[in-house]
Amino acid sequence: MKVTVTHIPEEGLTREFLKDGDWFHSLLPERDGTDIAIERISGQYTAAKIGRTVSVRGSIETEVTLGCCRCLKEFVLPIRAEFKYTFVPVEKMSNKEELELTGEDLGFGYYKDDLIELDLIILEQIILQIPMKPLCDVACKGLCPRCGIDRNVEQCDHETTSFENPFAVLRQLKINNGKN
Ligand SMILES: [Zn+2]
Ligand SMILES: [Zn+2]
Repeated sequence: MKVTVTHIPEEGLTREFLKDGDWFHSLLPERDGTDIAIERISGQYTAAKIGRTVSVRGSIETEVTLGCCRCLKEFVLPIRAEFKYTFVPVEKMSNKEELELTGEDLGFGYYKDDLIELDLIILEQIILQIPMKPLCDVACKGLCPRCGIDRNVEQCDHETTSFENPFAVLRQLKINNGKN
């Protein structure tokens, strides 16, 4: 998805977009092991320019299907993201400017040949919202490490270690208090 800078009218340019999972996966580094099920990405952006400096702001809406890291069940995580970037032509890049901007303004980029590429920005915004350890629910009880049943739906007789179960820790504290 590219924006041609000379085509941006004075009053700005607004576009809607709709992308699919193939588009998303084609942007990911090859075989990076990321297994993200995503089907539909929609959003819009507005580009405006002052001279040759272009500001682009937009929003993205999508849903990803992830596997819970505790119970392994698949669940859908809705994602909404907003982004705002400023672009200057790469010819304007001087060492001084680069130093001033690096690390301070993350929403900053360069464009060349009159074209601003938005694909990677959108990809990044989505990736940033995907948790490293996805949970179907913050209270997910996970699988029993001994028999493997899903503790959210069934119960077994295997002890939950006190480390995993906050209530067991509380019980422990009460016993100790009683003794003292
Ligand atoms: Zn879970
Ligand atoms: Zn068990």
